[in-house]
Amino acid sequence: MSSKERLYLFDTTLRDGAQTQGVDFSVQDKVLIAETLDKLGVDYIEGGWPGANPADTEFFSEKRSFKNATFTAFGMTRRPGRSASNDTGLKAVLDADTPAVCLVGKSWDFQVKVALGIELEENLELISSSIAECKRLGREPMYDAEHFFDGYKANPEYAISCIKAAYDAGARWVVLCDTNGGTLPHEVTEIVTEAIKHVPGSHLGIHTHNDTENAVANSLAAILAGVRQVQGTLNGLGERCGNANLSSLIPTLCLKEPYKTLFDTGISEEGLKSLTSVSRLLDEILNHAPNRHQPYVGASAFSHKGGLHVSAVQKDPTTYEHVDPSLVGNRRVIPVSDQAVDLTSWLNLKHSD
Ligand SMILES: [Zn+2]
Repeated sequence: MSSKERLYLFDTTLRDGAQTQGVDFSVQDKVLIAETLDKLGVDYIEGGWPGANPADTEFFSEKRSFKNATFTAFGMTRRPGRSASNDTGLKAVLDADTPAVCLVGKSWDFQVKVALGIELEENLELISSSIAECKRLGREPMYDAEHFFDGYKANPEYAISCIKAAYDAGARWVVLCDTNGGTLPHEVTEIVTEAIKHVPGSHLGIHTHNDTENAVANSLAAILAGVRQVQGTLNGLGERCGNANLSSLIPTLCLKEPYKTLFDTGISEEGLKSLTSVSRLLDEILNHAPNRHQPYVGASAFSHKGGLHVSAVQKDPTTYEHVDPSLVGNRRVIPVSDQAVDLTSWLNLKHSD
């Protein structure tokens, strides 16, 4: 038996990724991407927000089941002044009849007062009654704690009371969101370490945005601090600067220490080998030119242009490569036109000076 801990991967390409400017997935696109993600081996596929737009509503109108992944609908906690069973928005999400439901709610006192315009206590009731309703209907409930890190900085007691309300009402996962993407890795470590004193890490997730180019680093920091679910998108798709990039996170978790030794993910060796083609498929669907410089999966990630590098790489690839490109389905590129400089003769030359 493996002594590794299970780390769950949650893909939100079809929901948060779809918020990207210029991205407009058709239902057919969504079906193809979801099937590809399932083959890759992610644990959860968040398909969108039933009731929010025609494509999402249509995507959820059909019963979808996957080999590996748990199909998840996204929505919002109930509105004030309604009961959870009588809220039309929540009803549309629950009517999609998915095995898992992820509901976003406020966890920042400022947002509760200004955006919702209600008392802090009432927001806790919105959270707990909505999560309890999902559970009552036999769904796997998740709570996305919107603005959790900013909320924690402003009012730690209140932010914690929101995630506790969700957990106590039966949330399988309480997801700590860095919605504005401004939090840095050392802050994630500090704040997750505090949050975990109130909700066990086996029930905590992390959802980051890349506004300081730390979405992957923040996710890794949260995992080391104890969360056991990580959310992201293929190629880091997402509004503004994007979400945590699963195309980078997955190989790091599978190939790098200490993650490789500590955790099992649902990604098999075969799944990992499909990563480069999965990344390119998304670009194809979006009609984007693939980013050549994307870590692990980019065409240039393992290309060696001339000079000393080529010579050394030809002798032993590990000299200038951090992992074997074939593990992620990528390949080493050494342009034939480049004149290789022989490393040994260069060194000898140096020595004979
Ligand atoms: Zn987000």
